[in-house]
Order: sequence, then C-alpha cells, then structure tokens
Amino acid sequence: MPTKRTPIIVGNWKLNKTLDEAVELATAIRNALGGLKDLQVGIAPTFPVLSAVAERVSDSAMILAGQNCCEEDWGAYTGEVSVPALKDVGCNAVIVGHSERRQLYGETDHGVNAKVKKVLANEMMPIICIGETLAEREAERTFEVVERQLEGALEGLGADIATQIVIAYEPVWAIGTGLTATTAQAQEVHGFLRGKLEKLWGEAGQQVRIQYGGSVKPNNISGLMAQPDVDGALVGGAALSAESFIAILNYDRDV
Ligand code: PEP
Repeated sequence: MPTKRTPIIVGNWKLNKTLDEAVELATAIRNALGGLKDLQVGIAPTFPVLSAVAERVSDSAMILAGQNCCEEDWGAYTGEVSVPALKDVGCNAVIVGHSERRQLYGETDHGVNAKVKKVLANEMMPIICIGETLAEREAERTFEVVERQLEGALEGLGADIATQIVIAYEPVWAIGTGLTATTAQAQEVHGFLRGKLEKLWGEAGQQVRIQYGGSVKPNNISGLMAQPDVDGALVGGAALSAESFIAILNYDRDV
C-alpha cells in the first residue's frame, strides 16, 4: 500500500503586507480552513507581524512559519532572528534555504544544513528549499544541483526526522516569473528526489513530503497536486490575496 502523506500548502509572503494587511489576510485564511479536509495549510509572514498573526490564528491548525532564521540562538548577530525567538512568538515551522536567500544573501548548503538542524532541535518543521537556475537546467545539470542541495541540507540527519521535514522543490526559473514547470517536469524532479531520499533513508524516504514551488496559481495547482510525488506547494505571489490562496487550497482533488 502506498504511504499516505498529508498534503501541505504554505504561502510565503516574502517582503509584503503591513501589520493590518497581514492580520486581515491571516484571518481570512483561518476562516476558510473549516471546509478543508486532509490538508495542512501554512503561512510565512514577515518577522515584525508574526506575533500579531500568531494571536489571530492560534485557535486553528494553521502552520505559522518564519521565512528564515539564524543558526545561532543568541549573540552579536545584528539583524538576525533566532529559532527560539520564532518559537516564542508562535511559529512552528521555518522556511530554510529559499533561493532568494541563496542568491541574494549568499546562503550555502552548509549554512542551510546548520539552520535545518537548529530548527529540528527546537521541535519545529524546516521547509527546505532547493532548485536549479535556468542556466543549470539548460546545461542539463538539474539533477546534479538538486541532489547536491538535498544531500547538503540533510547531512548528518537520519531517517528518524523524515516526517518532521518538508522539502520544497522550487525551480528558480519558475519563481515569480509566471513560468511554471509542467506537471511532467515537476514529477520528474520530485520522483528523482524521492528516489534519493529512499536511497538515503530507506522506506522512510516515502514519508518525506515534497512541495512544488514556482508560480503556483489557482489554474495550475490541481494538475501539480495530482502528481504522485507532489505533496503540496510553496506559494509566493498567489498567496498574497485571500481569494487566490483560498482557491489554491480548494484545488480539485479529483484530477
Ligand atoms: C516562492 O516564493 O517560494 C515562490 C514559489 O514564489 P511564486 O509563487 O511567486 O513563484
């Protein structure tokens, strides 16, 4: 019997929303959760609004994620945010290694690994982003790149954490561009990652949830979710309006 993995869809709000806007959007999403079955839903607002948003959604099962974290708990690291501080304000997950962090802020596989370990040590869920650039895809290096990023992020970790992590496969060329991977392109990489996870962790590799990210919209989510190794989505632009995000959460389960 195939392993049952609960789908997980998370909105990454990036550098968007004022305090009032964030609370309004979070409230609308929380109010829409009632009718959704067998789906975990999460949001990743900016740091300054987390506390207010947490207060608004704490009576729901919504996942609240930081968009990044520091691998240190405290100290002279100006501008950083620690995992214990995120936990304190009500977060239960952290996005780690987003391509914007890797490209704009120089994050490395090694640094991502340290953050993943810190998040797990605090009993929170790391959402680990990996994905190739357009140049890497065109040079037919997609599998080599995602394999390196996957193994780098999980170095030193064992099969016991398989259900505690989420991998987000986000082809960089599809993020914020309106270009989505075809369902076949997404499944090809997700299937490859599943195989790598099984090689690493045996049967436990079947338990790891792998999200797709990259211009996910209400009109393409159903086809993506129908793929056998696509277990959810990390959504940027379309997560910024209640209407489009809730439409995504209500994707067609029968496709
Ligand atoms: C993202 O930020 O992770 C993302 C996938 O963005 P978008 O949906 O806008 O492509």
